[in-house]
Amino acid sequence: MTSSTPITTSVFDLFKVGPGPSSSHTIGPMKAAFDFRQRLGSLSPDVAQQADAIHVHLYGSLSATGKGHGTDRAVVAGLLGWQPETTDPDALLGLLKDSAVVYAVPVGDRTISIGPEQIYFQRKRYDSPYANTMVLQLLAHDQVLLEAEYYSIGGGFIIRKGEPETPLTTASVPYPYSSMAELKALLKAHSLTLDELLITNEMRLTGKSRSEVNRRLDQILDFMHKAVRRGLRQKGTLPGSIKLSRKAPILFQQAKGMSHSSDSFLIFLNAYCLAASEENAAGGIVVTAPTSGASGVIPGLTYLAKHHFHYDRATLRAGMLAAAAVGFLVKHNASISGAEMGCMGEIGTASAMGAAFLTRCAQPNGSISAIEAAAEIAIEHHLGMTCDPIGGYVQIPCIERNAMGAVKAYNAFLLATSGAASFQKISLDAVIKVMKATGRDMSTKYKETSEAGLALSATEC
Ligand code: SF4
Repeated sequence: MTSSTPITTSVFDLFKVGPGPSSSHTIGPMKAAFDFRQRLGSLSPDVAQQADAIHVHLYGSLSATGKGHGTDRAVVAGLLGWQPETTDPDALLGLLKDSAVVYAVPVGDRTISIGPEQIYFQRKRYDSPYANTMVLQLLAHDQVLLEAEYYSIGGGFIIRKGEPETPLTTASVPYPYSSMAELKALLKAHSLTLDELLITNEMRLTGKSRSEVNRRLDQILDFMHKAVRRGLRQKGTLPGSIKLSRKAPILFQQAKGMSHSSDSFLIFLNAYCLAASEENAAGGIVVTAPTSGASGVIPGLTYLAKHHFHYDRATLRAGMLAAAAVGFLVKHNASISGAEMGCMGEIGTASAMGAAFLTRCAQPNGSISAIEAAAEIAIEHHLGMTCDPIGGYVQIPCIERNAMGAVKAYNAFLLATSGAASFQKISLDAVIKVMKATGRDMSTKYKETSEAGLALSATEC
């Protein structure tokens, strides 16, 4: 029996492929706009005939930092029928470049144009249960014919108003849990390893066979590592007014030249994390882990694990499942959204997932206590971390923060695997509860609105 609704998120909904720079501001709005487009397609012909405009209203953090995050382009892409995983990042960056160009959206058997004039970055407060809210409308002479309200809740997950937060799945999972305590009890009662429990649930949730789940995990790792490799090759400055130079290729060259130094390991890790994060900032294709803003931590660690520690594919997959379990628990019991939790929800969660990944990879028999301890330590040392990106771009502090999150993950793994489990006094469930309470207490200014903190320092530079 679970104490609340069981977790029914798929590993492949947590690890989603899509364009950067922000899953809540890019992938989520694209999916919401795509959903609205589907609704337009099923309108009765007489309603569709009357329509003369589509309006998009962005509220909260979507409005505050949506320009820098490319939310307007993502909305247009979704209305055009583009899907995150198959979007061409260059084509996405080209949308809305020319303010005179408008785009045709099918409504029944005709089309309606949308351009920058129809996308409103609303400054007024909007009564909504979530920080990232968008309202899409189909109008006729300013009268609303169809309206849908969406919440982008982090990591590219969306909820449509009136629908439950946890999507109703037709399949119930064989091993239901909603907390780490319940997960541990299930492992003990059924004498299962963590990998086995998670893969069994995943097969039921997605209808995929074991080999299909394994193949998709390999693909996700490949997408992550492609982002790292692209980022290690790219030079120049990132898009946006900050004109931030890419640093990953410089660090990579530096690390290669100092193979006898004890620092080289850390510099390699920094280079890999920066490479994926810089690709994300440039709008490239990344994997949410658990979000796009934090999409450098796990790719950096898995790249290191593969190329420096030479773990085989099966071990990497097992590590990814352990990471997913931690991501599920945070998403289910707190939030992975910077707009809800500040950066502890994004980089803090990614770091905890990375710590779980490293711990599972290093321990073939996968002690759940060590995995829990590593994840707990990583979250504990991100509590209260604010989200205040300069200019609304996912660049400063985000890119370096991914490298810092990965280094903390590594140290959390070392701390958790040295000494007895009895050293661990705080449970993962407890620290997630603290994260939720801290996020609730933080001022909105520090939750992806660019209204305080480092975001203001730009004016002083
Ligand atoms: S500061 Fe952290 S939470 Fe905010 S946009 Fe950057 S990575 Fe995401």
